[in-house]
Amino acid sequence: MSDIKSLTKKIKQFRDERDWKQFHNHKDLAVALVLEAAELLEHFQWKNLQEADQHAQENKQAISDELADIAMYLLELADNLRVDLSKAIEQKLKKNTIKYPVEKAKGKHTKYNNL
Ligand SMILES: [Mg+2]
Repeated sequence: MSDIKSLTKKIKQFRDERDWKQFHNHKDLAVALVLEAAELLEHFQWKNLQEADQHAQENKQAISDELADIAMYLLELADNLRVDLSKAIEQKLKKNTIKYPVEKAKGKHTKYNNL
């Protein structure tokens, strides 16, 4: 069983033991995912790159917790929507490889339509 499938199973078990499926609809999972991403952003808000790097080193556990919150909602939402996240990532990487060919995109932050 892939890591994603195994983790999704554990997340669903946690949810179901608490009878929370009733609250975890697509809309609210998407909202929760973005709110957790905002909690991650709070760690870096108003800091310059050096301060953000220092903060990340000193708050690795708290940042790790936020990343886990984001990932858990992502995995649960993908499962609810019957999206195979491994496949979706593989497919999106293929699309991005075409959008951003190495010879055009290397070392540039330009959006694909301006390459
Ligand atoms: Mg959080």
